[in-house]
Amino acid sequence: MPRIVTRRTKKAPEGFSKIEPTLQDFEVRLKDIQDTKESKVSSKGNENLWKIMQVHHERSRYIYTLFYKRKLISRDLYQWLLREKYADKQLIAKWRKKGYEKLCCLRCIQTGESNNGTTCICRVPHAQLEHDAANKGTKITFKQCVHCGCHGCASTD
Ligand SMILES: [Zn+2]
Ligand SMILES: [Zn+2]
Repeated sequence: MPRIVTRRTKKAPEGFSKIEPTLQDFEVRLKDIQDTKESKVSSKGNENLWKIMQVHHERSRYIYTLFYKRKLISRDLYQWLLREKYADKQLIAKWRKKGYEKLCCLRCIQTGESNNGTTCICRVPHAQLEHDAANKGTKITFKQCVHCGCHGCASTD
């Protein structure tokens, strides 16, 4: 078992103790992935990175849901969590926009870098992929995107 490093340096606002066990679970999962990195770095390098991004995504989602959907935590606590980097502020800002409700990560909407000026294929609705493949007389080949291992995150899927 990896040692749990408690990150509570500054005093947390009220309500933190209620969600702390869940946040520690995320922390443990991240540590586990990082610990296995060395042994598999060559073939699984990407996969490990994807897993780490996945955990970060889930943790942001958890905090986003607590505050915006279930309204279970105070604004104080929410903002403290953002400051302490428990959640990705920019990603959450996207989720609140129409069409980005399920966005996997910010890299997948950054145009220009490595995707030839288009958004990542994981943003294309499944129906569109199916349509395109049918037009070409092929099957959908997309499974996971290279940035974060996303299986598809269009809002309509
Ligand atoms: Zn995606
Ligand atoms: Zn993607």
